[in-house]
Amino acid sequence: MFDVVIIGLGPAGSTLARLLGGKKVLCLDKKTFQPGGFEKPCGGLLAPDAQKTLARFDLNLPKSVLVDPQLFAVRTLDLSTGLCRHYQRFYMNMDRTAFDRWMVSLIPPEAEVIHGALVVQLERRPDGCFNITYQAKGQTHTVSAKRIVGADGADSCVRRVFFPSHHIRSYTAVQQWFKETHKSPFYSCIFDPAQTDCYSWSVSKDGYFIFGGAYPSLHCRQRFENQKQALKKYGFCFAEPVKTQACRVLRPASWQEFCLGKDGVFLIGEAAGFISPSSLEGISSAMISALRLARALGQNPGPQEHRRYARGVLALRLKLWAKLFKCPFMYQPFLRKWVMKSGLQSISIIH
Ligand SMILES: Cc1cc2nc3c(=O)[nH]c(=O)nc-3n(C[C@H](O)[C@H](O)[C@H](O)COP(=O)(O)OP(=O)(O)OC[C@H]3O[C@@H](n4cnc5c(N)ncnc54)[C@H](O)[C@@H]3O)c2cc1C
Repeated sequence: MFDVVIIGLGPAGSTLARLLGGKKVLCLDKKTFQPGGFEKPCGGLLAPDAQKTLARFDLNLPKSVLVDPQLFAVRTLDLSTGLCRHYQRFYMNMDRTAFDRWMVSLIPPEAEVIHGALVVQLERRPDGCFNITYQAKGQTHTVSAKRIVGADGADSCVRRVFFPSHHIRSYTAVQQWFKETHKSPFYSCIFDPAQTDCYSWSVSKDGYFIFGGAYPSLHCRQRFENQKQALKKYGFCFAEPVKTQACRVLRPASWQEFCLGKDGVFLIGEAAGFISPSSLEGISSAMISALRLARALGQNPGPQEHRRYARGVLALRLKLWAKLFKCPFMYQPFLRKWVMKSGLQSISIIH
């Protein structure tokens, strides 16, 4: 019987596993970190909030996680008006898989970690504990736990099983990798209301050019291809795709959409809806929610754990909720045109 089973070892699950001292912990993740295995589709940009969270943990990012080049500006394009502006940004450009591997390497040996473990079934037992069934190396195993933590991202099976009617606004993210052929690598952010009411991005990484976007799920692939076509006019070069990735991405639209869990089931990171609705930045929220849950579980066990967790993530929820008020200035075409035309906070590029 484990005290806690953590499902998912992205930044949320790895941070929780690192901080949950004194408990019998099992961590399960379907990733293997082997070539050709599951990789989280991601822009791999470490935002200032995430850098600050790492600083608070007294963690320094190893050089092996970083990629070439580091970029200092985002080229922002509005395809509906043709406006283009550059804004200074303070992201770190990194290899997302290397980042996840590094975070897993920080988990203390007391916690049991199983990679390549796909959770296929979850059930609450009459005694209030849980059975967790997973498949690994062609075999099926069942373990028991007093608490389950869903750190399994946007498409969380924990949220689907225990809170089936809970809705969080979501999109399908489609991302392709190409050999970099642009003269000068760049990072861009694209608004194209004809294809999506969210946004798209491109970033250069270690000789590759990555283009992706978050689209309404219906015809998402067609929308992606339409955008690629439209962007050629703006100097974007798409060679033969090296790989194509797709996954669900959440974009909470109201306070009620955050889902923290109850009765021994906890949700952290994107599984709980903790991701910025304006920028889709989710790494910082994943780590912060994990810290808050580790603190909530570190004191007297029982139902008050949920109350402590809800209190602990109040500031995070408020911060993400407040970002909803920033959204119209980015996503409402008239306001965006006004902001971009004003040149407010933009920088001019000297060629
Ligand atoms: C295309 C895209 C680009 C993004 N770019 C950025 C960015 O540049 N910067 C940023 O900060 N955020 C970005 N985000 C958001 C960010 O990636 C997520 O919010 C963040 O990874 C959430 O962390 P997490 O630990 O909650 O979940 P995840 O990182 O999604 O980790 C979930 C883990 O659960 C595991 N898992 C899932 N289901 C199961 C199962 N059934 N059994 C076992 N294991 C399972 C997965 O293998 C995975 O390791 C992006 C998101 C997308 C989709």
